Amino acid sequence: MTAKVFYGSPHQARLSADETLPAKLDLILNELHLRDRVKDELVCLKLHVGNNIGYSVIHPVFVRKVVQAIKDGGGKPFIVDVDWDVAGCETRGYTNEVLGCPVFPAAGLKDTFYYEHEREYKNIKTWKVAGMVQDASFMVNFAHIKGHPSCGFGGVFKNIALGCMVGETRGKIHDTNHFDKYWFKEKCSDQAVMQKIVDSCPFGAIVFDKKDPNELHLHFEPCNQCGRCLKVAPAGSLKIAPVNFHSFQEACAISTAITLSTFAKEKVVHLALATHQTPVCDCFGFTGMPILNDEGIFGGDDIVAVEKAVLDKTANLPLLLENIPDCMEAQDIEGHPYAKLHGPYKDPYLVLRYGEKLGLGSQDYELVNVLPYERKPTAGTYYISAK
Ligand code: SF4
Repeated sequence: MTAKVFYGSPHQARLSADETLPAKLDLILNELHLRDRVKDELVCLKLHVGNNIGYSVIHPVFVRKVVQAIKDGGGKPFIVDVDWDVAGCETRGYTNEVLGCPVFPAAGLKDTFYYEHEREYKNIKTWKVAGMVQDASFMVNFAHIKGHPSCGFGGVFKNIALGCMVGETRGKIHDTNHFDKYWFKEKCSDQAVMQKIVDSCPFGAIVFDKKDPNELHLHFEPCNQCGRCLKVAPAGSLKIAPVNFHSFQEACAISTAITLSTFAKEKVVHLALATHQTPVCDCFGFTGMPILNDEGIFGGDDIVAVEKAVLDKTANLPLLLENIPDCMEAQDIEGHPYAKLHGPYKDPYLVLRYGEKLGLGSQDYELVNVLPYERKPTAGTYYISAK
């Protein structure tokens, strides 16, 4: 079935507040009938509240509107995020006074309030869903769109996948990268050659293993699969293979499926704000220059459809090359701009494809612009001389 994704463009026809993104969020909330759906519900609003001095997270103006809509509808809202991001979030404007509801660490102050779910995937057997999330009866999943070093892109999937699990499970999701073997020391025992492999990576992605000097360790986050190391490594000693990179995305889809399984299907909505899109996640604790222009605000009931709509709308944006940090490089390859920046094996579409296979939604969507406008033709210019 075709899913509807409601969309507000960042473009304006007039210099008028009702054509800006917060006003278009109101229109999206109306289309989603959020107020009608939350009466007497305990509503968990999942945000990424950022860290340290990052300021590109979702501005309180947007959050307050969602909170107010939930209250207007008779729901009881509260905001959650992981404990180390909630600690100090008042310095970024996330307070009860500003937002209109409390902000809680999703698994409690010590990250010890959770529910266990058994499901085997590579190195993970038990997934620990944050207690404040599972105890809610309705979820509003509101994601800020940005790049991500593990999977190219952070959207509505990642906001749930990592943000609704305790730290231990988040760590295991990241460790899925290492489950399939990629270093074969029997094919390269010469320490001098190993050093050359380490030195070949301009991003410091390959290091000697801390515990065993005969082992190399790959940090998957800074690796953009440029292949420089493979030119130095003896044949068969090092694999830069899709399986290691894709596992993070598959684990994110599974994690999302587990969390969503704790809600009735009609009791979750997804919102995404594609503004100030930075190269890496809001966890980094700072805000750099945007690498893509703003693409607007999205909302829908189908997580796969919303993620796909965001990616399709951002797919044709040019990377703002001058805004990319010097420690990263954009590759001249086919694909989404986030894959150009983080490498072809970090294809941002992967997570939603895994999610679709798990039955979380459909890539078949209809984009509904909540405030379309047409540029009116104007007469030719006639400039009056200032002299
Ligand atoms: S593929 Fe490129 S970025 Fe990745 S480890 Fe090798 S040299 Fe570094």
